[in-house]
Amino acid sequence: TNFSSFSLDPRLMQAIAKLDYHTPTSVQTSVIPPALEGKDVLARAKTGSGKTAAYLLPILQHILISKESNAPATAATTGLILVPTRELADQVHKVIEGYTEFCGKQIRAVNIARNISDSIQQSLILDHPDIIISTPSRAAIHFNTETLDLSPLKYLVIDEADLILSYGHENDMQVIAGALPKGVQTFLMSATLTDDVEQLKDLFCRHAFVYKP
Ligand code: AMP
Repeated sequence: TNFSSFSLDPRLMQAIAKLDYHTPTSVQTSVIPPALEGKDVLARAKTGSGKTAAYLLPILQHILISKESNAPATAATTGLILVPTRELADQVHKVIEGYTEFCGKQIRAVNIARNISDSIQQSLILDHPDIIISTPSRAAIHFNTETLDLSPLKYLVIDEADLILSYGHENDMQVIAGALPKGVQTFLMSATLTDDVEQLKDLFCRHAFVYKP
């Protein structure tokens, strides 16, 4: 398999070329095609496996396609990426900037897990970026105060799910699960598939395509 077999937008292909990726990694080869078809995904994948591109490329592809339709563009957050730590949030944000380098202003992503005040977090959210990167607790807080509207959501990523659960975010995850609209495509990524992670699967993506190498 090579990247051209995924039929990705030329702007994403340009970014992949610039990053000097030649062949998709195993998780990318398995997960990208069903994800492009809109399936939920549960992947057992560690850092270093290429897991970030496995969920980001299908999401970015879908967002680019949705912007090409003639429907009037209303600003709405359709992607929420939940990560366990600030560091991972920074990392994911940088990766998105790399993949969207050639997309102009078509895709806006903000990181609210950074060390910034509540009011700055709120203004970033209320600007309705396409993608928000957050920890579960911040997302739940802003949902509870009605700053973060989850009703337009189409894509949800739970990255490093085992770590998220080990930090005690079950309640936040329940809050978010209860607020999701129907038909959200969920990506559950975890280095280990513990019983807790299996419970998240039941909660978020019962019928997911499963990658378990
Ligand atoms: P991740 O597992 O997503 O944290 O990615 C680990 C590292 O692999 C990152 O530095 C990526 O930029 C890089 N990477 C991801 N996919 C590929 C690929 N197909 N070819 C080469 N490097 C890649």
